Amino acid sequence: MPELAEVETVARGLRAIAGCRITGVRFGKTDFIHQPARLEALLPGSLIAEIRRHGKLLLIGCDRPPGETLALRSPGKPAPVVAKSWQAPGCTGTSSTCRYGDGAAGPARLWLMVHLGMTGQLLLDDPAGPVAPHTHAWFALDDGRELRYVDIRRFGRLRVATPAELASLLAPLGAEPLELPRAEFRRRLGSRRAGLKALLLDQHVLRGLGNIYADESLWRARLHPLRLGSDLSVAELDRLWRSIRRVASEAIRRRGTSIANYVDTQGRPGTFQRFLRVYQRTGRPCPRCHAAIERAIIAGRSSHFCPRCQRRGLAPSRARKPAGSKGVQPAHPSGGRRRKGGAPKRHSGF
Ligand SMILES: [Zn+2]
Repeated sequence: MPELAEVETVARGLRAIAGCRITGVRFGKTDFIHQPARLEALLPGSLIAEIRRHGKLLLIGCDRPPGETLALRSPGKPAPVVAKSWQAPGCTGTSSTCRYGDGAAGPARLWLMVHLGMTGQLLLDDPAGPVAPHTHAWFALDDGRELRYVDIRRFGRLRVATPAELASLLAPLGAEPLELPRAEFRRRLGSRRAGLKALLLDQHVLRGLGNIYADESLWRARLHPLRLGSDLSVAELDRLWRSIRRVASEAIRRRGTSIANYVDTQGRPGTFQRFLRVYQRTGRPCPRCHAAIERAIIAGRSSHFCPRCQRRGLAPSRARKPAGSKGVQPAHPSGGRRRKGGAPKRHSGF
């Protein structure tokens, strides 16, 4: 499943089309697209102004000229192209007059949101070139190229959002691991009585980590995936903070991990799979201590760890605090909301 590093690599590849205009949109299967008619109506004619990554989400900022109307830009489309729910605050509600950006001044900004799910790919292709099986969306660009969305399993998600909708959809997501200051990381994880693996996968705590980078980060930090956040010492929390940053940065530098079908916008695989220490290395020797890597289902996911250098019970046990205890030691500034651990959602749910 594409995680932070893969999505970042795709985002960097997509920056090549910033400044291009979308000239047409076409779909195959649409069961993974939120209101496909809305994309067909709103995206043609838009200028790709900005590409961002937010956790595992790709955000493509598409600008419409100020004051433009749907009727002008969507010839042949029926007027009620989208349901009321897409209308921006202040919209008059008629397709011919509705503005869907932040206001009348400046271009109206729409966001094409893409979650690659488990097997999603965004490819920049020559329109005359062969079409990969399971291609379900085509975005024609005015530079002659085509952006194609390919997804074998269709667990990905596409939708278009106004700025207000985008803000509301992104609000529940947690912090970006590469931007989170150490003190805030201590507070967020050190206050949770949940297993570390579940915490790292929980997109409300940190956004962008998935199974691969959670396992690799825990191995580097020498922490068992079932240790509780609130049981970690400050030194252990700091070690985990550093490990996550190192793993994420290195994975981005190596353009992601291609274990299943992940490729970048040019169809090239990443290379971080050559540098994995524990993920999917069950039974092979730990690169640090040579014990056999183990696999267990933790937080609903297959987890890989070294039983010798990621021990569960080495730290002073704070897990036996009485029920109702806040589970936070004085050294861990608390304040975060508590959340149960558990299996992560497959995508952000938009
Ligand atoms: Zn080991």
